[in-house]
Amino acid sequence: MINITRIQAWAFRSPTKKPVATSFGIMHDRPAVLVRVEDQDGAFGWGEIWANWPAAGAEHRVRLLEMDVAHLVLGTTIKSPAEFFNSLDEQTRIRAVQCGEVGPFAQVVAGLDIAVWDMVARRAELPMRQLIRADAPDSVPAYASGIQISAAGDLMPLARAQGHHRFKLKVGFDMNADISAIHRIHAELSNDELIACDANQAWSLVQAQEFVAGIADVPLHWLEEPMPVFADPTDWRTLSQNTSIPLAGGENIIGETGFDEAIKARALSVIQPDIAKWGGITACLAVAQNALTNGCRYFPHFLGAGIGMAASAELLAGVGGDGLLEVDVNDNPLRSSFFDGREPVAEGMWTCGNAPGLGIEDIPDELAQFQTLYAEMS
Ligand SMILES: [Mg+2]
Repeated sequence: MINITRIQAWAFRSPTKKPVATSFGIMHDRPAVLVRVEDQDGAFGWGEIWANWPAAGAEHRVRLLEMDVAHLVLGTTIKSPAEFFNSLDEQTRIRAVQCGEVGPFAQVVAGLDIAVWDMVARRAELPMRQLIRADAPDSVPAYASGIQISAAGDLMPLARAQGHHRFKLKVGFDMNADISAIHRIHAELSNDELIACDANQAWSLVQAQEFVAGIADVPLHWLEEPMPVFADPTDWRTLSQNTSIPLAGGENIIGETGFDEAIKARALSVIQPDIAKWGGITACLAVAQNALTNGCRYFPHFLGAGIGMAASAELLAGVGGDGLLEVDVNDNPLRSSFFDGREPVAEGMWTCGNAPGLGIEDIPDELAQFQTLYAEMS
């Protein structure tokens, strides 16, 4: 039995050396919300709450946790992480809908769920992945992410130097320029390297079909979010039937029902929930198992700080399958300082730690300069 007696939350913003461009907007800084829970015995766990957007999102998530959610957690007895997640999801659902903030509430609940999983794994003295599956492997295959296609000339050599040979390129900016850049980049790959593309929901069906036709001779490993998550299901089916490239998505799907519908619709073959954005470990584990059972692949989505990064790796290792771990290659101390400045990637594999839980004791001191808000609840 766990009784949470204290919650702490931090908002951070780390300035970007170069703004990170997507088809829907530019990230001028890298935000993060980290959360720590502590129980009556002084045991603790760390979680991360997704906050990449909107621009004021990080501070808002901390206040949401402090003023609308913490009282539902403090002093309650937790029997298991799954019971905790389901109860908190249920208790916050109506208020989240009432204020039109289903996403932010889901993100706060997700971060708390990750922290409770970390605490339970620590108490069991097991790495989190072994709490999920006793014979989980110690490493998972990874890919380099966050590579805007016009910056590929700089970021792909950097990613190679970091130990990557799989690369995901952000497209959706200029159709002809994107297509010719994909051909050029593919022609320069060495034998063991592969590329995928992420359009961040940029295209209509007609545009997505123009793109897949334009790169028909390139063996793209997957195409992520070619169309908006809200595009007509028949458009998704049409696109999937007109290309042999596996379609991927999930970072903008909320709810087990939403994921179940996406899995059963069979347009997406790569399912990509983000543990800090919806579901935490509890519900994303269920989604990943559902995906694998139905012949899809599970690739965790993640582009945040070090705690969510470590947790995504632990969940992928715990789930199994042939999924790839998303590792942002853009400079971000909110992520890399948790790994002594360099993520544990070599020859395309991410090595998980062997310490209990996520293996994270504290927020690195160097991040204090980026802190914008702190809240303590007890
Ligand atoms: Mg994406």
